Amino acid sequence: MFEPTLAGSLPKPEWLAEPKALWPKWQQTGGALARAKADATLLWLKLQEDAGLAVVSDGEQSRQHFVHGFLEQVDGIDFEHKVTMGIRNNRYDAQVPQVVGPLRLRGRVHAPEARLARAHTARRLKFTLPGPMTIVDTVADRHYGDRVAMAMAFADLLNAEAKALEADGVDVIQFDEPAFNVYMDEVLDWGIEALHRAIDGLRCKTAVHICYGYGIQANIDWKESLGGEWRQYEAIFPALAASRIDQVSLECAGSHVPPELMSLLQGKDVLVGVIDVASDRVETPEEVCETIGRALQFVPKARLFPCTNCGMAPMDRDVAYRKLAALGEGAALARARFAD
Ligand code: ZN
Repeated sequence: MFEPTLAGSLPKPEWLAEPKALWPKWQQTGGALARAKADATLLWLKLQEDAGLAVVSDGEQSRQHFVHGFLEQVDGIDFEHKVTMGIRNNRYDAQVPQVVGPLRLRGRVHAPEARLARAHTARRLKFTLPGPMTIVDTVADRHYGDRVAMAMAFADLLNAEAKALEADGVDVIQFDEPAFNVYMDEVLDWGIEALHRAIDGLRCKTAVHICYGYGIQANIDWKESLGGEWRQYEAIFPALAASRIDQVSLECAGSHVPPELMSLLQGKDVLVGVIDVASDRVETPEEVCETIGRALQFVPKARLFPCTNCGMAPMDRDVAYRKLAALGEGAALARARFAD
């Protein structure tokens, strides 16, 4: 009951990459970079276990960014000539690669880090991939001329990598779709269909993560524009409840999401964000336990997994660890308090 997990990313140690950056520069090259990525992955596996997490991840230590890490192994993408593009409905500008030809996987994308993580933890292993809608919102299209066709092409590539990750021993494959909170009509029109294509034939658990983003200034400003109640989930949760995705990871702690919206996810595992990643203040275990208690009014016990609101990539490393520890302790407290 209340098995704690995390959304996915964790801060990179300063000897691997520039700290507290969304697109951090690597501090090593060649073989030294590969070894530093592996060392950081092992470090975070150990710390996640120490924090009491039941489902752990590689912390995304091997990718520079949660979307572009996948794209680096895709033919048809020009990484040399990035362009500035407004993303998430022009919420902020990003330097994005361009799609210049038919998309094709060059080979495996995440085999080294998935196999390394699998070999070094006995806990259940989650692996994250960017969702198709979020990918098409984070690249410049110079080839397809059709957002949906391009999303379906990416979904097929994601499906190939997801099947290979399952064969590597990954227990949960999660697709990160922050764009689902921005383009709600498109989620219903084709977003979920693209996800279905990405999970086609998988037997492991599948998840989708939908959040209000990292604690960067552009997101803080956006959230202030959303009013007293953030009801974006209301538009998409009924369709997700009817989908073939097993788990939904959502934001709850410190946010203006009305908790009753979680009741729209009947039949799904709900990964409830009980740790705010937009603040450096570390939650107390008691606060984590109270957030779990609030979610329990709308999510059955057996379906409730305490989680972080979003990835922790741009956070201070020590703060991130202390937040994971609070997550683990708060979940233990909730097990004691809310057990029958
Ligand atoms: Zn997120």
